[in-house]
Amino acid sequence: MRPLLLIVMAVVLTATGCSVPAASATPIPSLSPSEEAPEGPDTPPESPSPAPVDTAPAPDCVLPSVPVTTPAAKAVGPNGAHRTTGSAAVALTFDDGPDPVNTPLMLDVLRHCGVKATFCVIGYKVAQYPDLIRRIVAEGHTLCNHTWMHIMQLGTYGQARIRQDLQRTNDAIHAAVPNAPVSYFRAPGGFWTADYVTVAKQLGMTPIDWDVDPWDWNFSKYGTGQAMTTHIVSAVESHVRPGSIVLSHDNQKPTTVAAYRIMLPWLTARFTLIALPPAPAP
Ligand SMILES: [Zn+2]
Repeated sequence: MRPLLLIVMAVVLTATGCSVPAASATPIPSLSPSEEAPEGPDTPPESPSPAPVDTAPAPDCVLPSVPVTTPAAKAVGPNGAHRTTGSAAVALTFDDGPDPVNTPLMLDVLRHCGVKATFCVIGYKVAQYPDLIRRIVAEGHTLCNHTWMHIMQLGTYGQARIRQDLQRTNDAIHAAVPNAPVSYFRAPGGFWTADYVTVAKQLGMTPIDWDVDPWDWNFSKYGTGQAMTTHIVSAVESHVRPGSIVLSHDNQKPTTVAAYRIMLPWLTARFTLIALPPAPAP
């Protein structure tokens, strides 16, 4: 990149108040496939070798702030799961972690921009990486139960089996951070059932869906590396509205981390970004 262009980008980005420094383009190692839980449409297997991502901020970061007034999608999704925040604030949600590589990177980006988010975590990974749960909570983010190991059909197994799974996940979270509020639940793949919603509420968790989904896992459709990062930025920026709940993934997704490095200045210039607040049982 030409020196003059770099200087112009640096000056303009400083003016946004939330520029994210470019990261090394060194490929980021991923978990081996054997460490992944069985997952479905929202988290298919990673591409074998994710291409290095150019994480330099994109010109999108420097667009002037404009008001966004289009209302969010309907507030209630399948079986009563919440699709929006209930206010003008936008909630970023990151699913399927904690991931020993990409969750810390995502936390770094969020911290750099002073943004709080909500992490929908997998129980067995919580048990593997309790320090990451402690960091998530210590940095002001909130937690959402995303089941023990992301079994897509769990919602059809009956309330007793669901309750056992969700409670095991909450117990793992509380083994890492005693008394940490787990006020939200999200069904793997968004495959909601009435039993999920019933059990989640019994355990004091509000069921949350989403209204913005960039499909940041679909490498066969959108490509890998910079192609996927560009797609995520475009998809989120064109669909996010006041009140949106945005679904993304922090597990094995360096392309998603790269996308948020680019998007957070844009998002923070237009929206109030919140961690979904710990709330009384619904
Ligand atoms: Zn998931």
